[in-house]
Amino acid sequence: MAIRENTISIIGAGISGIICALTLAKSKACKKSSIKVYEHKKRVGGRAHAVKVNDHFVDLGAGRFSSQLHHNVKAQVTSLNLPYETFPFTQLKRPQALHKSLKSILKNLKPLCDEHPNDSFEEFLTIYVGRHQAREMINALGYDSLSLPNISPHIAFDIIEKHPEIQGFSENAGYEWFNLKEGFSALTEKLYEEALAQGVEFYFDHELASIETNNNGCALKLIKDGKQEVTISDGEMILTFPPTAMKKLNCGFPQDWSDYTYGSIPLFKGFLFYDAPWWQELDLADHVVITNNPMRKLYFKDNRYVFFYTDSDYADFWRDTTLKGEAHYLSTVKALMAQALRCDESQLPDPHVHTYKHWTHGVEFSQECCPNHPMTLVHKKSRIISASDAYTPHCGWMEGGIMAGKSAAETLLKRIESEQDQALQSEELAHV
Ligand SMILES: Cc1cc2nc3c(=O)[nH]c(=O)nc-3n(C[C@H](O)[C@H](O)[C@H](O)COP(=O)(O)OP(=O)(O)OC[C@H]3O[C@@H](n4cnc5c(N)ncnc54)[C@H](O)[C@@H]3O)c2cc1C
Repeated sequence: MAIRENTISIIGAGISGIICALTLAKSKACKKSSIKVYEHKKRVGGRAHAVKVNDHFVDLGAGRFSSQLHHNVKAQVTSLNLPYETFPFTQLKRPQALHKSLKSILKNLKPLCDEHPNDSFEEFLTIYVGRHQAREMINALGYDSLSLPNISPHIAFDIIEKHPEIQGFSENAGYEWFNLKEGFSALTEKLYEEALAQGVEFYFDHELASIETNNNGCALKLIKDGKQEVTISDGEMILTFPPTAMKKLNCGFPQDWSDYTYGSIPLFKGFLFYDAPWWQELDLADHVVITNNPMRKLYFKDNRYVFFYTDSDYADFWRDTTLKGEAHYLSTVKALMAQALRCDESQLPDPHVHTYKHWTHGVEFSQECCPNHPMTLVHKKSRIISASDAYTPHCGWMEGGIMAGKSAAETLLKRIESEQDQALQSEELAHV
């Protein structure tokens, strides 16, 4: 294949953008291309964002992977030699009454899924166990997105089987889970360094603000450092950010890109550090409690820290709680933690450090939840490629981000190859 000199502009430096840049930089066809990545923030990683608190790395965003489910993540972690440890939260403590029978109820209902392709999981449960019990079951599963109208029974069972905290309620309870000792940012930072070494250029504080398309082609308009405008009008363009960010642009998303529609749900994680690991005495270390209150999933990490993780309305509940001030937030945390652990508030110490993060669009997905969704989209009015974990069968996971980045690069490489074939054929014809 002939080597082409041109510029490839990738917007977004999350895992999908970096993997896309690296795949292209390592390809023969792009040896002479100039590959540039533009990122809105001042850091790489997107929704993979670890911070160091009290000498411990905590994942404010993406946190765990399974070696059986996430082969691309595992392969990257192994080849980059990143230290990892067991993510131990597959065993519940302080079970709710319903937890004891949940596995057998779900086992009996699973074969009936095929009869309800158009019902939501909640409607499906309501038919068989009644509305009250249906709500109780979703509550006991700790993930409130299971009650979304587009979550079919099949998708719900897939979610239950593929999340560490609740996989024990399925018959598929054998997946092993891990987290990176230095957080998921260690992966994106290592890949970033590798991309730099391959000659990829990164430009931070560059936000893609609009896309202009006309008969002569298209141009990306970026805002640099919040003020100056930068225009990219040459070469290939790949957008590696999720559907909600696509919708903010004037590019007719989704209708000019895709036959599907997209949604997102908010997520919230709160981390609490204490002077002493008081939860060890309660035999809670390395266990998770699914709560019957807005904390939803409460984790006790070794002797290091406590965290809780919520989705959908309860993620917004916690955002609103933080907006009322730190004292209000911490007293709410304490009251709800005491309720979850069935103890008196006075028995719980106050954390000496804490941190949290609300993600307005934490998980993004195709509303149709279709396994046949193309992994990359191409703008119907230009050549621009769009890639996101939301388009892949692993939406909501770093695995999906890696798949999206590779798929976008492969789409471009195929295009380059076919255009070169065409050019060769035209040359040959001219010589006849
Ligand atoms: C709280 C939380 C928990 C999660 N838990 C897990 C988990 O345990 N395991 C797991 O595998 N995954 C998890 N995920 C999902 C995982 O983080 C995502 O699947 C992954 O980060 C997707 O990568 P991406 O590169 O496709 O998108 P992103 O990470 O969103 O990256 C997109 C990048 O594009 C940039 N960008 C956006 N718009 C523009 C613009 N207009 N101009 C320039 N740049 C722009 C963004 O700043 C960002 O850096 C979690 C996510 C969250 C939020």
